[in-house]
Amino acid sequence: MQVLDIPASYILRGTAASGTLRVVAIDATNIVEEARLRHRLSKTATAALGRTLSASALLAIILGKKIDSRVNLRIQGDGPLGFIVAEGSADGRVRGYVRQPGADLPIRESDGKLDVSGLVGKTGELAVTRLLDNAEPWTGSVELVSGELAEDVAYYLASSEQIPSAVQLGVYEEGGRVARAGGLIVQAMPGVSDKTLKALEANIAAMGSFTDNLRRYSLLEVMERATQGLDLVAASEAQAARFQCRCSRERATDSLAFFGPDERQDMVAGGGQEVVCHWCNEHYQITPGEIAALDAPDVRAQA
Ligand SMILES: [Zn+2]
Repeated sequence: MQVLDIPASYILRGTAASGTLRVVAIDATNIVEEARLRHRLSKTATAALGRTLSASALLAIILGKKIDSRVNLRIQGDGPLGFIVAEGSADGRVRGYVRQPGADLPIRESDGKLDVSGLVGKTGELAVTRLLDNAEPWTGSVELVSGELAEDVAYYLASSEQIPSAVQLGVYEEGGRVARAGGLIVQAMPGVSDKTLKALEANIAAMGSFTDNLRRYSLLEVMERATQGLDLVAASEAQAARFQCRCSRERATDSLAFFGPDERQDMVAGGGQEVVCHWCNEHYQITPGEIAALDAPDVRAQA
């Protein structure tokens, strides 16, 4: 996969209220800008995929057990965007795409904001799959409750994972580019007091939108605002995060092995074959020689 010259996004973690709250936040500005460029996303599609990418990175940390844990977040609404898929890894790698990247809607009249729920759809399903090493993937799902995505992720965590949490997600565009994007999840841990939850709720209500905050404050300050009066203890190190696919030229070539020998011969005769990765929209031009090599006896396999 081609690496674009965009500086890395980052993730911060912390705890508050004597460990009864867990906070994870991501500045995903550059991840979402890269997704916009790669998939040629419309404004509203950028917001929808950007929120989903941010959520997948946070969920990989909240639900993941190990550094290589991966979480796949899929939203299938009844709006013109079609489905959204994002995969986050606990090591900070994120990738994702939407069914209809060019789909868009006018600014919503009621609040002057991007109409994300109109584009996604207000009814449908949100599914989270944990991808585990040496085990079957595990999937949980809920009905969409708003289509604005942060509420939907919070509803999923509460009802399917029994993790009560506050979720904020946002993408802010300026001059046709992603100027701020990211999200925050505050998770209530066992033993949390009602007083702490009330204080958290009041903080979140008073904060305003996540991107308004990220435009005025650093990510750490946004975490501090969410946990004001609750003694945030932030981990000292930020974790780098980036849009990074798992595809490669070798995997793209190997994918052609699923075609029959006759079809592959047609590809060779036609001067090669283009393979496009859905996740990152990378276009691989596979040469006739590489395709022909798929039919050659594999010496390694026989050894
Ligand atoms: Zn890819």
